[in-house]
Amino acid sequence: MTRLTVLGATGSIGRSVAKVLMAHPGRFQVEALAGGRDVAALAQMARTLQARFAAIADPDAGPELASALAGTGIASGAGPSAVLEAAARETDMVVSAIVGVAGLAPSVAALGAGRRMALANKECLVAAGRFFMDEAGRKGTELLPMDSEHNAIFQALSAAPASAVERMTLTASGGPFRNRSREEMRHATRQDALKHPNWSMGDKITIDSATLMNKGLELIEAHHLFAVPAQKLDAVVHPESVIHGLVSFTDGAVVAGMAMPDMCVPIAHCLAYPDRLPLPARRLDLVELGRLTFEAVDEERFPAFALARMAMEAGGSAPTVLNAANEIAVAAFLQGRLGFYGISDVVAGTLEGMNVATAPASVEEALAVDAEARRMASGLLLSVSA
Ligand code: NAD
Ligand code: MG
Repeated sequence: MTRLTVLGATGSIGRSVAKVLMAHPGRFQVEALAGGRDVAALAQMARTLQARFAAIADPDAGPELASALAGTGIASGAGPSAVLEAAARETDMVVSAIVGVAGLAPSVAALGAGRRMALANKECLVAAGRFFMDEAGRKGTELLPMDSEHNAIFQALSAAPASAVERMTLTASGGPFRNRSREEMRHATRQDALKHPNWSMGDKITIDSATLMNKGLELIEAHHLFAVPAQKLDAVVHPESVIHGLVSFTDGAVVAGMAMPDMCVPIAHCLAYPDRLPLPARRLDLVELGRLTFEAVDEERFPAFALARMAMEAGGSAPTVLNAANEIAVAAFLQGRLGFYGISDVVAGTLEGMNVATAPASVEEALAVDAEARRMASGLLLSVSA
């Protein structure tokens, strides 16, 4: 029996984790669940999965959560400290699936000796990658990538020693605007951008997939997770989303990680690692698919991708700033306060305006840079065209 804690339990990843758990009764014991604001969803999940502890980040939601769990014996807490408490509780594995840099402090609190972390939250590696990897090493926590591309690469890496790796390639679906002109994208609305062709995900990552910022964030994620230099990493557009990641080795051999696009597949891999769970996921049928296609990333139409790649190459706190500005810009776009290309304009302007020489060496340092970048990005929202 594996004891499991899920941070970001009520989100898209959290719900898929719950689905996999419910398909394997008796194999996992849910220690703690943490969510942001949705008390009813968190309470219901805690009851269904028989969690021991439930934490809601909203500091005012404590009484409501306690009454929703009355009579169940499930303990609960509210506010950021309760989320940290959930993260730190004794367990075997923690799924890190809070969205955004909000996941950084809870993920760091969840690092501990002899446990594993399945990492879906990429923003903590973008905002504080070097510190996060060092801290995981110091604490003795094994990281398992839950992001589908990194999960595919992680599996491909078992084919040869790290010294034989020549390149790593992440695939991108291309999102809803893969075939749209710049002019069409300029007028894209929230509804247009939220229509992802292959994946159903939370709003923030769905917008990141439309700008291709998501693929840029994932390059930075891979850079830290696999300790691979920026110049050995690239991305290719692959609209079918069947190949998720590839590793090229020094002898010319390439190992690709493939599966039909379904987050339950990398989730199950992490939850059972190094075992495998039987899953009724859709099977890959190459003949039915007929062909798989590939295109280069168009950095003219998708400047957010280029910005992220440049931030990775620049290092220091450039990725921290990029991530913070992007979170502000995406939230403004979702509220109809910013145009589609305003997102990359705000990110570029924030990067230009800040000193990014030093990589954050603690959660506090990362959050201080994050807060400053958010202030600057918020100021730019007013000057960038809506
Ligand atoms: P989501 O918006 O659907 O869910 C986010 C979760 O975080 C919710 O449970 C929300 O309540 C919680 N949350 C937000 N702020 C919080 C806070 N301050 N404290 C505690 N909980 C908080 O997002 P998602 O699509 O599930 O994505 C989660 C993470 O996983 C993101 O970093 C995303 O990039 C990554 N990811 C998602 C997918 C996917 O298919 N959805 C795939 C790969 C990676
Ligand atoms: Mg991904």
